[in-house]
Amino acid sequence: MDPFRFGGIPTRVVFGHGTLAELPGEIERLGRSRAVVVATPRQRARAEALAARLGARAAGVIAAAAMHTPVAVTEAALAELRRLDADCVVALGGGSTTGLAKAIALRTDLDQIIVPTTYAGSEMTPILGETRDGVKTTQRSDRILPETVIYDVDLTLGLPVGLSATSGMNAIAHAVEALYARDRNPIVSLMAEEAIRALAGALPAILRDPGDRAARADALYGAWLAGTCLGAVGMALHHKLCHVLGGSFDLPHAETHTVVLPHAVAYNAAAAPDAMARVARALDAPEAARGLFDLAASLGGPTGLAALGMPAEGLDRAADLAAAGSSWNPRPVERAPIRRLLEDAYHGRRPAGAA
Ligand code: NAD
Repeated sequence: MDPFRFGGIPTRVVFGHGTLAELPGEIERLGRSRAVVVATPRQRARAEALAARLGARAAGVIAAAAMHTPVAVTEAALAELRRLDADCVVALGGGSTTGLAKAIALRTDLDQIIVPTTYAGSEMTPILGETRDGVKTTQRSDRILPETVIYDVDLTLGLPVGLSATSGMNAIAHAVEALYARDRNPIVSLMAEEAIRALAGALPAILRDPGDRAARADALYGAWLAGTCLGAVGMALHHKLCHVLGGSFDLPHAETHTVVLPHAVAYNAAAAPDAMARVARALDAPEAARGLFDLAASLGGPTGLAALGMPAEGLDRAADLAAAGSSWNPRPVERAPIRRLLEDAYHGRRPAGAA
């Protein structure tokens, strides 16, 4: 057994069907009484219905969350928060909405209760990515980690099938990279393998029947585990590539993860054989990279970067950016093989296996 450190997982988690009903009690448990509900503009009606259910415990609604957490949106929300005299933040939505709650908490130290409606996993991490003037920066802080997460499976029943597939693959990516993280540890690795198993089993069932309550519960359970992995250990090449492609080429978050993951795994396969064996076992597939590619393809997810709007002439720059810096990866990150990886991902080729 390799030596390891394990820091514990302080976030309180409430999981089940209909658990949104427990929100008033969870606000009270934190000693708070005036929650502001944040959401994206598209989910305003849902946020307003939730605020109405909270009655006197609701200070108001801010339906302004946007992808990549623009600082200008956060600053406007802070002004509104002061006007509303709120004493905690409830986020109802996906990773973008959680991002706004985290950005508010970073600046105010207000308590957060996150109610996730996708599988992105941000609610379990002390990580915040923000954009200012088109530049995305990422930071970690204990202030960012939410106090409470309420997983209500019923809220995910209406998550469109396409978004369920790509968001689920996004979650699987956190778990895969946790298995070969430099600071991996036995508990997080158990959670990672279980996350992949739960999601890989649930997503095809959701494709067949989006209202399958048991499959939706398994997927959300997997997303919780995967988000916990993301928050607990460091990520590697796959997340770096997605950061570059999302940040510099404005590619959509979950779809980009779906396309890149099999190729990043193929790149790392020979350098992380134990992790690969666990990924393959969790997928019930003969080999990790092709197993992930086949899963994404079977879900009808995108398989090539070209279809996501990646310009062919941007591949060289993306390779430069990905190879720059000194972030850790089980296999050294070298420009020439990364450029080949991007070419394969661009065309949506099925990985050949260990590179
Ligand atoms: P998202 O939050 O942008 O949601 C995508 C769209 O789906 C939005 O329009 C949203 O309103 C809608 N939506 C959400 N839930 C829905 C539901 N149940 N039914 C119907 N529509 C729904 O996308 P995401 O993939 O959840 O999150 C992506 C963002 O989260 C990115 O900005 C990414 O950087 C960030 N993220 C951060 C971390 C972290 O640890 N900091 C982790 C994962 C993702």
